[in-house]
Amino acid sequence: MQVDYIIVGLGLAGLALAEGLKVNQKSFIVFEDCSQNSSLVAGGMYNPVVLKRFTPVWNAEEQLKVAIPFYQQIEKQFGQDYLVDLDIYRSFKSVEEQNNWYEASDRPFLNRYMTTPILPNQNKNVNAPFGFGKLTHTGRLKTKALITAYKAYLTSKGQLKNCKLYYDQINIKDNIEYHGISAKNIVFCEGFGLQQNPFFKYLPLREAKGELLTIHAPHLKIDFLLKSSVFIMPIGNDHYRVGATFNWKDKTNIPTIEARQELVEKLNKVIHCEYRIVDHVAGIRPTVIDRRPMVGKHPLYRGVYVLNGLGTRGVMIAPLMAQNLIDFIENKVPLSYELDIKRFEDKCFNQ
Ligand SMILES: Cc1cc2nc3c(=O)[nH]c(=O)nc-3n(C[C@H](O)[C@H](O)[C@H](O)COP(=O)(O)OP(=O)(O)OC[C@H]3O[C@@H](n4cnc5c(N)ncnc54)[C@H](O)[C@@H]3O)c2cc1C
Repeated sequence: MQVDYIIVGLGLAGLALAEGLKVNQKSFIVFEDCSQNSSLVAGGMYNPVVLKRFTPVWNAEEQLKVAIPFYQQIEKQFGQDYLVDLDIYRSFKSVEEQNNWYEASDRPFLNRYMTTPILPNQNKNVNAPFGFGKLTHTGRLKTKALITAYKAYLTSKGQLKNCKLYYDQINIKDNIEYHGISAKNIVFCEGFGLQQNPFFKYLPLREAKGELLTIHAPHLKIDFLLKSSVFIMPIGNDHYRVGATFNWKDKTNIPTIEARQELVEKLNKVIHCEYRIVDHVAGIRPTVIDRRPMVGKHPLYRGVYVLNGLGTRGVMIAPLMAQNLIDFIENKVPLSYELDIKRFEDKCFNQ
């Protein structure tokens, strides 16, 4: 079998790349072994404002310009809704934070999202004595539904192999040869799985394990994403996702009692009504020391590329990064230094 691309991994990065290649009429085959699940468990929130400091997220405007039409185009193809508009209510801890909000909400770009005046809390089941700042034009992507549908689509086209790609069985000659497949290029989109990859294990990927609960809280009745010490995201039928934790040491996808306790303790300080925990999931966010994605070509091997480091914001970043990588490979458009893995080239030669 002859293809233009082998894609390794079908999380948000692999999906964005596959769809981009399809639009560019390139042939490809995807390998997916379910060893990582960051994209499947993600809250799926997209929001261009850093909620701690009230500053713009890096490159947010460019990312959203590409991401929203990208997901809408897939919605149209599949006849399903994956994007959900959802305002975010940022709960304040103090009058000082309220003042910081007012100041930031006047700034260009931020003023499109951060609204005033500050809203008082009107829900007796929520603890928010200093009220909320409301963000609009934000929302969530139903990542699990999207990826599940995309897998089914690729399967129907014979473009998905549900198995691990073994690195030591790749043969790089003029083309990339793997188990009877000959490809011009191979792109690794393995999320945290990259740490096993001998081609790219020199890249400084850091694991940031995250855990989320799903609760059933019939009396809570909020129709916005509440951001306090945890986020509480309505997902329909009185169910809410509550998250997320950060753990920089644990490299497994296994939910832990400690994270559950942490989330419950924080949640109990934010809401007063009864709830029942109905699900608990964990995944590893692929983050990078300098908080920028890692995109580009291997310094030594022709046709070997990576698309990774989407960190905590895969929903917004993935479509633009995939587009940049395709432009780089197919049209020789240089990658910006901030995201190009060239910035870590010395680590490859000094390993
Ligand atoms: C708890 C939690 C909450 C989050 N919330 C949000 C949020 O609200 N908004 C947001 O934008 N982001 C969020 N994120 C971050 C987001 O999930 C990541 O940025 C994104 O999912 C990374 O996508 P990826 O495709 O790079 O990696 P992954 O989703 O990990 O995908 C990599 C894929 O490669 C496969 N793979 C790996 N190695 C191989 C191999 N050798 N052969 C075959 N297949 C392989 C894996 O099985 C996996 O499916 C959250 C993450 C977590 C854990």
